[in-house]
Parts: sequence; C-alpha cells; structure tokens
Amino acid sequence: MKARPMKTPVYLDYHATTPVDPRVIERMLPYFGERFGNPASRSHRFGWEAEKAVDLARRRVAALAGATPREIVFTSGATESNNLALKGVMEACRSRGNHLVTLATEHKAVLDPTRHLERQGFRVTVLAPEPDGLVSLDRLREALAPDTVLVSVMAANNEIGVLQPVAEIGALCRERGILFHSDAAQAFGKIPLDVERDSIDLLSITAHKLYGPKGIGALYVRRRNPRVPLAAQIDGGGHEAGMRSGTLNVPAIAGFGEACAIAAVEMAGEAARLAALRDHLRARLEADIEGVRVNGSLERRLPGNLNISFEGVEADALLMTLPDLALSTGSACSSATVEPSHVLRALGVGEERARGAVRFGLGRWTTAEEVDYAAGRIGAAARNLRALRPQ
Ligand SMILES: *Cc1c(COP(=O)(O)O)cnc(C)c1O
Repeated sequence: MKARPMKTPVYLDYHATTPVDPRVIERMLPYFGERFGNPASRSHRFGWEAEKAVDLARRRVAALAGATPREIVFTSGATESNNLALKGVMEACRSRGNHLVTLATEHKAVLDPTRHLERQGFRVTVLAPEPDGLVSLDRLREALAPDTVLVSVMAANNEIGVLQPVAEIGALCRERGILFHSDAAQAFGKIPLDVERDSIDLLSITAHKLYGPKGIGALYVRRRNPRVPLAAQIDGGGHEAGMRSGTLNVPAIAGFGEACAIAAVEMAGEAARLAALRDHLRARLEADIEGVRVNGSLERRLPGNLNISFEGVEADALLMTLPDLALSTGSACSSATVEPSHVLRALGVGEERARGAVRFGLGRWTTAEEVDYAAGRIGAAARNLRALRPQ
C-alpha cells in the first residue's frame, strides 16, 4: 500500500485500535444505504441481500481461523466473546466440573468475567507467567484437576505482545478432555492461527484491532470433536443458532469479513515489514538512550509490538512532553486509575520499571519515517527528563 505523507501526531497505538482500511469502508457503505435489509427477513429481497453479505463475511472470518462458517457466532467484540465463552461454558458444564484455569496477564475482559464466576461459586486458578511473559506448560499441567472444565489463555498479549504457545496448550487440554479458550483479539490476522492445528475450542476475535470497524467481533465455537456446550448470555429471537440473539449489524459484519479477507492475503508480508520496522525502532532507542529494557520475550512476540521501560523515567511524564506521538503507557484500558499495569506486575518487574513502560504498536500505515521521528523525539525527551531529575 502507498505510504501516506507523515502527519502528527504519529499513531503508534495500533494495539488500542486500528484505523478502518479504506477497502473495508468501501465494502460496508452499501449496507447503510440501499442494501439496508434485515438478514432475518426471509420473505423479500432486502432480507436476502443482507443475508448474502452476512454469509460471505461468516465464510471469510471462518476461513482465517481454519473453522467452518457454522462455528462463527457474531458478537459486539472480544469483550462480549470472552464473556460468552467463559460464562457460557462454565454454566453449560456445571455437571462436569467447577474449575477454570487462566493466566495473570490476560486482558481485563477475561479476568473480570472469571471474577464474576468466582462470586458465583466456581473455582478459578490464575497462573503467574514466567518472567518473559510466557505461560509455563509444567505449571499449567500441575494446575489441571479432575474437575477442570476450561483453560483460557490468550494468543497474544495486548501490552507486551507476547505470543503464548497455543498449540501446546491446546494439545495438553485435548489430551485431558478439557476445553481450551483463547482470546485472540491481538493475534487474529497478525499471526497464523488455526483452530484445528492448535486444538482451540473457543476463540475470541474483534474487528477493530484488524483494520475493521468497532463494535463487531466473533466467537468461534467448536461444533465437533468435541462439540462445545455453551449457554447463551443474550436471549431473544434465537439469532446465531440461539447463542447470541439480536439483529445482526450487517454493515459492520460485511466490513469485518473484508478485513479478514485482506488479512488472509497480506498477513505474511505485513508481519515481515512490521517486524523489521519494530527491530529498527528498538535498535535506535537502544543506541540513543541508556537504560532501555524490553519487557516480555523478544523472540515470541507480535511483529508490530514493542514494550520498553526507560530506567529512571516515568512513562506518563515522558508521554506528557510528546503530544506529537500517540503512544500508550503500561495499561491503556485502566488508565483512569494510576495503578501500574497488571501485566508487567505479573512478570515480576519492579514498580519503577512498570511505571516506566511505554507500549509501541506499529501497524499497516506505519512508515520508516514515522519510526525514526518517534525514536528521535523519545530519545530527546528521555534525556531532558533525566537532566531534570533531582540528584
Ligand atoms: C482489545 C482487546 C479486547 C477487547 O476487545 P473489544 O472488541 O474492544 O471488546 C480483549 N482482549 C484483548 C487481548 C484485547 O486486546
């Protein structure tokens, strides 16, 4: 794709959300206009046209996951998908067991529903990751009990970009007859995922991290080998095979499908380009600034992610002096509170290093010029802050 001329602020927060690809917008527009029908209307052309668009999108989302279209349930995004997966499975499997295992570095959209389940009487084990952010398969194996129903481990972390060994986790769960859910909000369309190869039973996906619109996502729910029992969390009308009722958001679904079709073609090339840009960014920061520490595994990481602490520099203070860069500190989602990121704390990094963490998210329209500009600005700002520090 042609590079855009550099504008400020430079957007380096692609983990928070992504701009909608113009090709996706193009695909959505007719469904706001002349093709406005409700896909549940079975008796006229307006309904048929809308249904056709939803069918195509469902096939495209399924294809990118290695799933079949019937296994895709459209939702409002990954938060809803995670809620449906966790609450829906635990509720439906009450007779089978009472125990759920997850990881301390999960997104709040997993951790908060597990807390809700705990209040309802379910037993939850939250595993601490290794210092590099990866789950220990040995510790996971030890945590599994005869009454364990579900393991939920994300595919890629939204702060440190660390990629969990989903295929190994899936194989372990399959061997023990335990269901495996993965939150793939950050990973889907960025790295290859395949629900068959990786033995994934439920997969949470969202369009807006994938150059699609906000407010649309999906939950993949395995239908065979094994069929996943799931209790609906939104009732009314029986849409989406009864798993999620409500009139479908046709324009958003059409756009979501287009975003997946684009990712299927462009993922490999884009990943290589972003990894090279990201490595260049890291090299420049390390050359320019003393005391640069990378948080999380460097090897097992999303191509567009970098998470760095600058020793003795508060990330919030740093970003305050950089209005021309759109970046996040440790935790964007809970930035209303002053708590340092729960992800970095779970890695065992100290309070100071957690407060010094800056998250870089590179994406489809990030250019080398932007990366160089950002590196230069951050180097200067970090040196300024250090010079001001009381000795
Ligand atoms: C963004 C994100 C979510 C939430 O997705 P929404 O579609 O915004 O609800 C959940 N999990 C992870 C890992 C995310 O990055």
